[in-house]
Amino acid sequence: MVKYKCSHCGKIYDPKTLVFRCDCGGMLDLEKFDFTFSKKDILKNEWSLFRYLKALPFDRKFNLWKDITMGEGLTPIVTLEKDNPNLLVKVDYAMPTLSFKDRGAAVLISKVKELGIKKVIQDSSGNAGNSIAAYASRAGIDCDIYVPEGTSLKKIKQISSHGAKVYVVKGTREDTAKAALKAAENKEGFYASHVYNPFFYQGTKTYAYEIYEQLNGKIPENVVIPVGNGTLLLGCYYGFKELFDLKLIEKMPKIIAVQAKGCAPIYKAFKEGKDFVDEVINTGTSADGIAIANPMRGKQILEAVRKTDGEIIIAPENKIEETRKYLAEKGFYVEPTTAATFAGFFKYYNENKSSIKGKIIIPLCGAGLKKD
Ligand SMILES: *Cc1c(COP(=O)(O)O)cnc(C)c1O
Ligand SMILES: [Zn+2]
Repeated sequence: MVKYKCSHCGKIYDPKTLVFRCDCGGMLDLEKFDFTFSKKDILKNEWSLFRYLKALPFDRKFNLWKDITMGEGLTPIVTLEKDNPNLLVKVDYAMPTLSFKDRGAAVLISKVKELGIKKVIQDSSGNAGNSIAAYASRAGIDCDIYVPEGTSLKKIKQISSHGAKVYVVKGTREDTAKAALKAAENKEGFYASHVYNPFFYQGTKTYAYEIYEQLNGKIPENVVIPVGNGTLLLGCYYGFKELFDLKLIEKMPKIIAVQAKGCAPIYKAFKEGKDFVDEVINTGTSADGIAIANPMRGKQILEAVRKTDGEIIIAPENKIEETRKYLAEKGFYVEPTTAATFAGFFKYYNENKSSIKGKIIIPLCGAGLKKD
């Protein structure tokens, strides 16, 4: 089985030990695993993201995922506006639990099942909790989910419906993360965190593989991604990097990351030229899905964006509701965090039209119906 490697000190761990971070405090990555992959390796008759199984960190004999997958992935790519063929959206809320987190959860919970784990713990602002709860239930694994107070009641109801126990934590999103971490340290269950566990990013990397397959290898020059903890951003970066190293694509797309105005620690570090992220105070935003004041993988996110010659931009708070209406006019009813991604991009686009070259792809990450 592929091993963990500390992103800070390089120490190697076997996932069977159930560690979730290095003794030095560093975040765990996956050790590089060798695989070959090309178009002909896509499992054309598998209608889920496991059609890219050859690029995923599972043994060839491993097939527990077959009972766990819900057909996640393979989300549509369409144009948003009829006069603008360069602006593509990927409808990533068209997933079993209505957000892109199913990509990560399908792969992580498959790995958890392979490891023989009986109970998982996770914390989230909502969507990741929905996802982990659903896949854990399907896999016959017990599940505790920690959410911050103020989380949409619909999301809480959805999490409970899958049989997971929901702990609503008083205080900030960071207090919620601390509570889950403490439970994991007390060995109440395996910390199946979308932020900490590197297998989650192996799922989100299929976002890039799908774009590659669906657009016939002609990937857009610009990939816009919302960023809080960076699970889609990093997965997307790993995916495109692999395709690039395999010589399946000629160029890395620029990653344009979007943060919320009221909580933008990565944007701040980027603009200040720092290579690490300092915690900020969340001064409030309706884009709660990206309001992460202390992103644990901030350093890696900065590195990924800079390596693609990318950019980090801010979503104007006063345009979020208006943009949500606009997207609904175009047929897409999304949650405010997704509207924020587009609000941020539209502002940036209007100010930098001349310097943005080629096509752009933006994900519709979360469905609007999940909000109260
Ligand atoms: C989780 C989530 C995000 C942000 O993802 P990160 O991994 O925190 O960067 C953005 N939009 C929606 C709808 C989400 O559920
Ligand atoms: Zn370490």
